[in-house]
This record gives sequence, structure tokens and C-alpha cells, in this order.
Amino acid sequence: GAPAPGHAPLDVGLTPKSFAILTSGGDCSGMNPAVRAAVRYGIAKGCNVYGIYEGYQGLVDGGKYIRKMDWKSVRGWLSVGGTSIGTARCMAFKTREGRLSAAENLVKHGIDSLIVCGGDGSLTGADVFRSEWGSLIAELLSTDRITDQQAKTFSHLTIVGMVGSIDNDMASTDITIGAASCLHRVCEMVDSIGTTASSHSRAFVIEVMGRDCGWVAMMAAIATGADFVFIPEQPLAAGEWQEAICDVAHRHREMGKRKTVIIVAEGALDSSLNPVKSEDIKNILTERLGLDTRVTILGHIQRGGTPCAFDRILATTQSVAAVEAVLQSTPDMPSPFIGYVNNKVTSGPLMDAVALTHQVADAIHKKEFDRAMQLRDPQFRQDFTIYNATSVKGNDSLLLPSHRRLRFGIVHVGAPAAGMNAATRTVVRYALNRGHVPVAISNGFDGLLKGALEEMTWIDVDGWSNLGGSHLGTNRHVPGKHIDMGMLAYQMQRYELQGLVIVGGFEAYSSLLALSQARDKYPSLRVPLCVIPATISNNVPGTDYSLGCDTSLNMIVNACDAITQSARSSRRRVFVVEVQGGRSGFLAVQAGLASGANTVYIPEEGVTLDRIQSDVHHLMALYLDDDADRSEGRIVLRNETASDTYTTDVISNIFKEEGHALFDSRTAVLGHVQQGGAPSPLDRIRANTLGFRAVQFLEKQSKDALNQFAAKHNNATDDDPVLHTSSIPVPNRPIELCTAPSSAAIVGFSGSGVRCISVDELIRITDVKNRKPKSAWWYVQRPFVDLLAGRGLFTPEA
Ligand code: ATP
Repeated sequence: GAPAPGHAPLDVGLTPKSFAILTSGGDCSGMNPAVRAAVRYGIAKGCNVYGIYEGYQGLVDGGKYIRKMDWKSVRGWLSVGGTSIGTARCMAFKTREGRLSAAENLVKHGIDSLIVCGGDGSLTGADVFRSEWGSLIAELLSTDRITDQQAKTFSHLTIVGMVGSIDNDMASTDITIGAASCLHRVCEMVDSIGTTASSHSRAFVIEVMGRDCGWVAMMAAIATGADFVFIPEQPLAAGEWQEAICDVAHRHREMGKRKTVIIVAEGALDSSLNPVKSEDIKNILTERLGLDTRVTILGHIQRGGTPCAFDRILATTQSVAAVEAVLQSTPDMPSPFIGYVNNKVTSGPLMDAVALTHQVADAIHKKEFDRAMQLRDPQFRQDFTIYNATSVKGNDSLLLPSHRRLRFGIVHVGAPAAGMNAATRTVVRYALNRGHVPVAISNGFDGLLKGALEEMTWIDVDGWSNLGGSHLGTNRHVPGKHIDMGMLAYQMQRYELQGLVIVGGFEAYSSLLALSQARDKYPSLRVPLCVIPATISNNVPGTDYSLGCDTSLNMIVNACDAITQSARSSRRRVFVVEVQGGRSGFLAVQAGLASGANTVYIPEEGVTLDRIQSDVHHLMALYLDDDADRSEGRIVLRNETASDTYTTDVISNIFKEEGHALFDSRTAVLGHVQQGGAPSPLDRIRANTLGFRAVQFLEKQSKDALNQFAAKHNNATDDDPVLHTSSIPVPNRPIELCTAPSSAAIVGFSGSGVRCISVDELIRITDVKNRKPKSAWWYVQRPFVDLLAGRGLFTPEA
């Protein structure tokens, strides 16, 4: 295909194609960013890109439903929910006659590749279409609907599938486009219901979407700290669930909770596959516990609204991969499916993903529930276990034997970040379920010196999952630097702390290192020490994500949406938006992708005059290309430490000066707004996972140390030798045995899993001077910001 008029294609290593994109099935937030990125990346690669309106119906009907897209046709689509090219459920496409006319329409438009963004139904349809393609072309030729030449040229159809679905019900991908935005809506609603439930001391049964898949329900339950959740994959026995909810609700009320929140997936079942209905749950709670209970069915609210930052980035990076797959496809390759596994965009056979997804539904219908969980995503089952262990007050089944129980501290260090409270809540609740004594330390390590410690109870942390900032109080004081290490060690001993969970950013990391190094001198520090990374900058080594960075990203993206709107209204205005992030460009790059920034200035690259000049040229080219009356506002993002010389004001002034009559410039410094607000659902869920793992880390490290000690004294090989060592002198504070580097670690995310990275390894992967890890996974996404802003495509001459 010829490059789009007026635009110079970027690098065309592969033959450009003519491809189309359509959205199908139920709409979701993120479909528009997906279409935008496919259109722009396709044009940048020299392709002709078509939008097919109204899903498969538009493909079957052809004509005005198949439209050539240009750079500007998708302007502003990042922030728009739903799908602007429309979607439909199309019966005709399920018939061969319908697919025949779909094939004819593609051929007549010269389109040889199709990207489909939809649910499993849509992708099943796509798969059927491709497998039939040869026979469809033969039939079109034999009935003279296409020419010989057309039949030859279009003998092969490339189909690429990507999943847009709020349900997150597709196997072979960790998360689908739209699922995270749906969770945002659900959590907002459940939080709101929570305040009225508390005020009136009511119970609420909240029904969320999910026919065969309980992902939304379960994640919402984790994120909002609901008392109970019903999902189709883990049904309770018929006739027994009634007892189970009453038991939990009663237990939580006894501890002082003023509200009861039960989340139900619309497809919830009991183990005999009878539906569990919201009304039934309500009646049970009313009749058996006398609770004033209401039912709220969230319905279509869950689909709507602007896409969250995560979905915008997911959709954008997946669409880029989808276009790459179109360019690379050959007739003998199976149709690719673009997924997202372990924090990376992946490509695998579409047919396998579809087949695997159907197996999940099949497993549920055959009552093979464990298999259903496993097939869907192994993480899902773990999350369910963690939910039960952290949100439901146990019936003693989780309790450890008394010699395994710990008394340990929790402290917040560094700048506040959303999710600190949620993580603390999980640590406290899981600890209590295990029989530990969690002790909260107020105001960072200063609080430890002052003795500001408090043993926490279940109800103390009630409602903390959606509380922003740091409820315990936090500051930047690091042991050994601002805090006297000897005094700190003394206080650890005095308060008999047998472990420490430090929640925070780079200061927490520095504290961990300092404490572990001081173990030589102070025995009371020979206890398990761990960090739960929490900072908006996401610059803690040893984790892909720290708590708070997703919330901050959403704050920035929402602010950028508002600023872009202002810039658009005043037409020719470029905003230089300053964001935080320390010496890491994470926030700037991710927010740049999610808000459609024109470019980003980050510390990893620095800023030069040449660079600013070339940015001015690019902006001029864009404004020259704009229709004079409908000119656009634009934003660029600058990290606060990108350059000492080229400050936000300086860059904006240069833009103003050099933009001449073409454009004007303003600044917006977002400041501490970026640290505030209720944690996003992803941050809450991440907090829950890390809180759980942190307690497990303390348990394992103290157990290992104790067992080694006992084994040395009586050669026991028993898994639990301490039980049999009454004759040997177990130290009074047995955990003073933790001296190995592995007993001081960061509990962080590695892909979709959790890894504990010990201090010795941490030192190797840290760029100490710049307070961040030596490498960053997100950096590969940096070029997409400029590429999707038309860098290199528009020249002042064009
Ligand atoms: P959601 O997850 O929101 O339900 P979905 O893509 O699964 O989305 P469906 O209604 O199942 O939604 O499918 C959307 C469209 O895909 C259907 O209306 C139909 O046009 C097409 N489609 C689904 N299954 C097939 C099939 N087996 N053969 C051909 N086309 C199909």
C-alpha cells in the first residue's frame, strides 16, 4: 500500500499492508486507545489503515462501515471510554453467507489483514473466518463476485486477535483490555456504598458483572476489603454457603465492624451449579442475622467511563504488537493472539487461546472447579487463597503453633504513597489470622525511638484498603543516617520485636541495607527484615512495581486530560507539564503514553538545546498541518529532575518564543497532588499481595533460622525440630539467629509473581547515585510516546 498522503513513512523494514481494525462483542474502556494506537502505528509504518464500524456487522454490510482512517481521525481517543467505531452483536457473521459478504468487502477494499479487538466470542468468530478464508475466496471467484486477480492477491487473510473484555475471562493472557477500568468503576461504587453501609450499620449485597468468570468480583472484594465473595469458579456446597456467610458476617460484626459487604459475580453458582442469587443472600442475612440488608446491582455502570492509565498503556502497547504481527505474518503462520503475560506483551496462536478459554467454561459445567481455576490463570487461585487469608477473620485454621508466632513491627518510611495503608492492613490481618502480634510504629523510625508503638487489632485497620497516604505517619529519616542505630537496636530489644516490615520507597530500601549491615554489631537486628516497596516514583530496585505508582499515574493522566482539554479549547497552546518521579522517568513515560503527550523529558536522557529545537520543529510541523480553525492543544511531560538548566519554565519560554505565531505555551506543575488520593484498585490488589507475602517472608526466615539452630544442637532432621528440643537452650529471642543476607529482603513483583530479593543481590542491581535500579523494564516503551505523536511523520514542509 502507498503511504498516507502528506506523510513520510518511518522505517519500512517490512512490506506495508492494508489492514483493518474492528471492535466486537461487549464494549469496554480501552478499545479506543487500542484503535488509536493501531491506526497511528500502522500509518507510521506506511500501511493503509481502515476502521470497520459496528463490529462484524459493518464487515458484513460494507460500504460506509469500512472507512480509511488518517492520523487525525483518532485524535483524543485515549481518554474516551467504549468504542468510537462502534460494536455490535452480529448474527449474520455466524452464518457462512454473512462471512462470504465480509470476505468480499475486504477484498474489494484491498484489505488483506484484520485486527479484531473483542471477547472470546469475537475471537472465535475471527478464527472461523480465517479457517474458512480459502473456501470463501473460491466461492466468491466461482460466483464472479471477485476477479481472478483479486482471488490471487487475496488468497490469504491475516487475522490478529486482542482481547477487549471487562471480564478478564480469556486464558493465555494475565489481563484483558478493559478489566482494570471496570475495576475502577466497581471500587468507586463499592467504596461509596461502604460509607452509607457504615453509617446505617447495614449489610449490602453487591452484584458485579461476570457470567462465567469471577475475576471482577474477586478483585473488587480484595480491593475493597469485602467480607465475602461469590465467584463461579469456587462454588460453595449447596445448602452450606448460607452457613458460611452468616458465620463470617457474624464474626466480623463481633469484632466491631459496622458494615457487611458481600460481592457476588452475576454468574455465581453453588457446587451443584444452582445460581446463587443476590436476593437469596440478602434474605439469609436478614432472616438469620437480623441485618438490615440491601441489594445493589451495579450493571452497566461497570462498563463505562474513561479508561484508566493501565488500560490505556496496555491497549497501546498491545496494538503496537498487533500491527507488528500483521507486518510479520506469512501465509503459513497461525493467526496470532496478542496477550499480556508476566508484565510483557506476548504473541501466541489465537486458536490455542480460544480453545483454552472454552475449556474453562467446560470445566465449570463439568464441576471441575479446581481445573477451571488453574486453566484460567494460576495467579487467580493464589489470589483467592490470599483473599480468604487476609480479608476473612479465620476460624483458627490458619493459626501457627505458638512457638512459630512472632511479635513484629510495621513502619512507614519516606514520602507517602497510596497503598501503604492497604498493605499495612493486610499485614495486620494476615498476621492476626496466624497468631502473630503485629505492632504498628508511628512516624517512621523516629516513632520507634520514642516508643510510639501499638499492638494492632483486626478492627484497627478496618477501612484502610481505600485510604490514601500513610495513616501511621512517615518521614524520610533513615537508620544510621538520621536515626541512631544503637538506640534503634535497643528499642527493638526493649519492645521484643522479632521482625520488621518496612513500607516505603528508596528510603525504605536504604533503611533495609543499613539495618542488615548493623546486624554484626547489634544482635537485636538479627531478625527477619523486609521492605514492601511503596513509592510513586517506582524506583525501588527488586520490583517491577511499587505501591502507589499506579494511583499516581492515574492522578497524572486525569490531570493531563483536563489540561489537554484546556489546551484544546484555547487552540494553539502547548502545556509543559511537570511530574514527579525523582531520577526515574517511569511516571513521565507511562503518563506520556497514557495521555498522548507529544514528548517526554526524562533524567535517563537529559535535555539538550538540540533536543528542544527538534521538538519545536515537530510542534511547528503539527500546527502547520492542523486545520487553522480546529487547531489542537498539546502537552509535553517533563520529569522534575530531567535537567537543572532546562527547567519547566525555561522549556515553556523557549516554546513560546520559537512557536512564533503558530503556538503559545504554558506550564502546569502537578506537585503533591501526585502523592494523594485513594489508592487505585491495582495498588490495593498489589498491596494485598505484598502484605501477605511479607508476613510469609518473616515466618519462613524465622522458621529456617530456628530450625538450623535446633538441628545444630541435636542433629534433628525433623521439619519442626524445635518442638523436640526442650533439652537445649533455645535463645530467649530465638529470631536473633537471622544473619544470612536472605533474611533481609525486598518483597517485590517480578512479572505477575512475587520474589524476595535479598540485600546482597539488591546491591548488585542498584544505581546508588541515581537512587534507582540499574535497568528498567518500562524503558522499551519510551519510543512509542514520540512515535504515536507523529514524530518523523510530519515535517514542516509537508
Ligand atoms: P463479551 O466478552 O463482551 O461477551 P464477545 O466477543 O465474547 O464479547 P459475543 O457476543 O460472544 O461477544 O461475540 C461477538 C460477535 O462475534 C457475535 O455477535 C458474532 O458476530 C461473532 N461470533 C461469535 N461467535 C462466533 C462464531 N462461532 N462464529 C462466527 N462468529 C462468531
